[in-house]
Amino acid sequence: MRRAAFAPLYCMNYHYFDGLPGKAWRAVFYLREYCFPFGCALCGAGLVDGRETWYGLCGTCHAGIEREINENRAGEFCDCCGKPLLSEQGRCMACRQEESRSCDRVKVLFPYTGKYRQLLSAYKFGKNLAVGNFCAEKIRETLKCETFLPEVRQETRLVPVPPRPGKIRNSGWDQVEYLARLLERDGKNGLLVDRCLKRMPSQSQKELDRENRHSNLKGRIIPVRQAPKTAVILDDVMTTGSTLEVCAAALREAGAQTVYGLCLFYD
Ligand SMILES: [Zn+2]
Ligand SMILES: [Zn+2]
Repeated sequence: MRRAAFAPLYCMNYHYFDGLPGKAWRAVFYLREYCFPFGCALCGAGLVDGRETWYGLCGTCHAGIEREINENRAGEFCDCCGKPLLSEQGRCMACRQEESRSCDRVKVLFPYTGKYRQLLSAYKFGKNLAVGNFCAEKIRETLKCETFLPEVRQETRLVPVPPRPGKIRNSGWDQVEYLARLLERDGKNGLLVDRCLKRMPSQSQKELDRENRHSNLKGRIIPVRQAPKTAVILDDVMTTGSTLEVCAAALREAGAQTVYGLCLFYD
């Protein structure tokens, strides 16, 4: 009975909750967990309080990720692609072989392995929006970090990577757009979002190698209006960096002067 009454919660989509205040939005996750227990996205343990249901993680797994983030903070990262450096300085070997990159700086948050891979699939394929709340929180922290965004100027905007045409129709949602909406709701703590890029039809990037990925997308992501002066491109996974590269080039063409890239996971 209680399941039938709350069925819309199970397949909930961000479109339902546009305009709901933040507290009500959090309560929805608590209610959903009560009606349809998702459990912790990593270990499956039951979620007990408002904090756990909001992030979709039990206290132990959440603390484990925070600990790893703190441990990794001291490491050195490539200026170009954001991946950890082994023994190089400034730029990684792969980036040294490229002549020029369109992004001024790229930051990636988690390796696409082990539990982080599990997190992404719970979010992207399992459509566990609570994990999206956790990811948005990490993006918010990164945007505040001065080594990534030295100064947030008035004209700085977050630019989500546009979905492939038909994606929302086929899968019902866009995982990057949910993050953008959460960050947008954040008001004075967040960045304004500018959806100034559009993606034309192209082959899926998944089966292509580096070179083909770039040529497949080149010219397929276009600006729909003038770009913000300073843009932070937001994407979920970075594989070869081609998507970021093509978006950054399109933004520069449309007038952006400084372009940063920010991805949750790197492969
Ligand atoms: Zn857990
Ligand atoms: Zn690099």
